[in-house]
Amino acid sequence: MAPRFPALDLDELAAALGGPARARRALRWLYAERALPEALPDVVPGVAAAAWSRFARAAEWRPPRVVGRQASADGTTKYALDFAGTTVETVRIPSTGRSTVCVSSQAGCTRRCVFCATQTLGFARQLRADEILAQFLVARAEAPATAPVRNVVFMGMGEPMDNLDEVLRAARVLTQGPAPQLRARSVTVSTSGVLPGMARFLRESDASLALSLNATTDATRAALMPHDRVWPIAALLDLLRDDARAHPRRLTFVEYVLFAGVNDGDADADRLAALLDGIPARVNLIPHNPFPGSPLVAPSAARVLAFQARVVARGRRCMVRWPRGREIAAACGQLVLAEHADGFAAVPA
Ligand code: SAH
Repeated sequence: MAPRFPALDLDELAAALGGPARARRALRWLYAERALPEALPDVVPGVAAAAWSRFARAAEWRPPRVVGRQASADGTTKYALDFAGTTVETVRIPSTGRSTVCVSSQAGCTRRCVFCATQTLGFARQLRADEILAQFLVARAEAPATAPVRNVVFMGMGEPMDNLDEVLRAARVLTQGPAPQLRARSVTVSTSGVLPGMARFLRESDASLALSLNATTDATRAALMPHDRVWPIAALLDLLRDDARAHPRRLTFVEYVLFAGVNDGDADADRLAALLDGIPARVNLIPHNPFPGSPLVAPSAARVLAFQARVVARGRRCMVRWPRGREIAAACGQLVLAEHADGFAAVPA
């Protein structure tokens, strides 16, 4: 199936519209910072009318419906977007002078990370690249003028490496000129450590990578993230070590969700710093954001800060990502969880 308009790259649009100048104008029109129209217009300035109308008739233009929108006091806004009957969540997170949009790569997920709300929903279907890009467009259109969207993170629902063709296409379109032309380092794909997908992503994309490590021993990690048994910590970190040599300019993050009494001890902090030897990754500590039924709890703020201090003392850049929008449950999967108490159909084991 041919990709839909938002997911077409410059060359594909040039072929469809009869020249690169028309393709650039169509991209400028599509990625202008405003709400998505219900239907494609009859005319796009600078694109020959006949070529546009032929293209527009064939293009399946299906902007999502906003079926939920919640803003928290800190400005974090969470959307539930309906794509032809499938609901996914998208979050816009403001910071000083710019905002980040967090997109979903799948409706649900097939991974079984015990601390993640999405996991409780099961798996509905893969998202297409145009659906990933539409999430960015919808959330960007409503960003405050003081904090325009400059970053995209693939940290919503789903495991990006399990839908890699579409994720790679979306990342490529987000960074291509003339629009939206985000910087490669401003697009971050986050993975729970699906090794073959990670390897391909690192070969084919310049975008940033975040690895959700979340533990420093395989015993603990496998209890939190069952697929650690297939792709253990050492194999994941060896890949990052190789990539640091192959792509020294890439930005790499290691995400580490902290759970009280599980992975938040001094010994974990020391092991984490040691494991990352030779890997120029920045560490993001994320205190667990609990959801109803979650079996785990977050450490105290003092414990989080002590963990951070220990990692920093070992010469590692390490930030704490304090939960944003906690009152709107802006952790992975939580808005959809609130709206669809029954979740998606479970995936057959
Ligand atoms: N599947 C991908 C992307 C989605 S999860 C991945 O695992 O990276 C995005 C991030 O949110 C991951 O770092 C994950 O560990 C973290 N996360 C998931 N559930 C969480 C929760 N309840 N509290 C805090 N962080 C969570």
